[in-house]
Amino acid sequence: FESKLPNLGTSIFSQMTALANKHQALNLSQGFPEFDAPELLKKQLNHYVLEGANQYAPSSGVAKLQQQIAALIARKYHNNINYEQQVTVTSGATEALFVAIQALVKEGDEVVVFDPAYDSYQPAIELAGGRSVHVALHAPDYKIDWQAVADVITEKTRVIIINTPHNPSGKIFKTEDINALKALVTKHDLYVISDEVYEHITFDGALHLSALIDPELFARSFVISSFGKTFHSTGWKMGYCVAPAQLMVEFRKIHQYVTFSSFTPAQHALADMLELEPEHVDELSCFYQQKRDLLSEALAQSRFKILPSEGTYFLLLDYSDVSDLDDVEFCQWLVEQAGVAAVPLSVFYNSASSDKVIRLCFAKNDDTLKCAAEILCQL
Ligand code: PMP
Ligand code: GLN
Repeated sequence: FESKLPNLGTSIFSQMTALANKHQALNLSQGFPEFDAPELLKKQLNHYVLEGANQYAPSSGVAKLQQQIAALIARKYHNNINYEQQVTVTSGATEALFVAIQALVKEGDEVVVFDPAYDSYQPAIELAGGRSVHVALHAPDYKIDWQAVADVITEKTRVIIINTPHNPSGKIFKTEDINALKALVTKHDLYVISDEVYEHITFDGALHLSALIDPELFARSFVISSFGKTFHSTGWKMGYCVAPAQLMVEFRKIHQYVTFSSFTPAQHALADMLELEPEHVDELSCFYQQKRDLLSEALAQSRFKILPSEGTYFLLLDYSDVSDLDDVEFCQWLVEQAGVAAVPLSVFYNSASSDKVIRLCFAKNDDTLKCAAEILCQL
């Protein structure tokens, strides 16, 4: 059998969580909250299931959820989109990313991806017949050199995929990044897929700069988010895509044949949550900043160097003073011998990276974070 994705194995997140379970380690590897979704969200889901909202939703989403998403966008980014034409509810951000990539990428097209990159981009590009072109960012600041991006653009380049706040580095786009991106995509007539699943998790008062805030940039963008991150409900696999109407027509052609529509009761429950408890979204940055600070302070006496986290629920540690192992070996050792599961950064790169950096997820209970830090401080 000739595989279409010969170089692909099981995702690092599945691998590390399996190892964490096997060794009964504290699992700070795969990014998911250890705490539960809000009570109202669970109550409303239950309500709609019992009430009988159990048949197909419209392919683009339940209208009241599309409306609430548009209202959130108007409130946060001052962009008044048309919810009927510009919002599509998807089965997680992963589906939205896959569909946006299929909508844009043709045989032979090149797509610029920043490494370290979330693992679902490249396979989706390859299945569309495209080729990912990687621009590597490195510790400690993971700053984008926009000249290096300009240098990889050819006549085959069609899309740039960005991710802000960035998994795994925790970096967020600054105004200069948005401006540099806009200059490049307008000059070369490119499209943008903007993965903004951590849009509501930014620290120290920093604002998330969405592609939705800039009309010229948004005119060429698919903006993607996930309710899993925002409402501590990664297992529901609910997300959405926002795009200009013309681009959304193409997105919907594909979405209707990938899933057709997403879980109806969850759409109603999420709409209620957005409408009735808008403060949940507003308080999320503060909630996670407290966890970031707890973990960072508890690790201050350790031999790990803590890299800055400006957003997301991830913290990077440089372990070069702790071990000479490479990062995959170090994470293996850490989960087996120390009882803490983390993710090695090199797996987010297309070509070899020798940075000695691991990722910890701090979407965990305070006690878990304290226990993990105690163990790491002894190394
Ligand atoms: N993009 C990034 C950067 C992510 O971290 C995640 C979460 N794993 C996703 C996309 C996928 O989100 P979802 O679980 O909603 O498919
Ligand atoms: N986004 C999560 C992470 O980065 C994992 C998602 C998954 O397991 N596919 O850890």
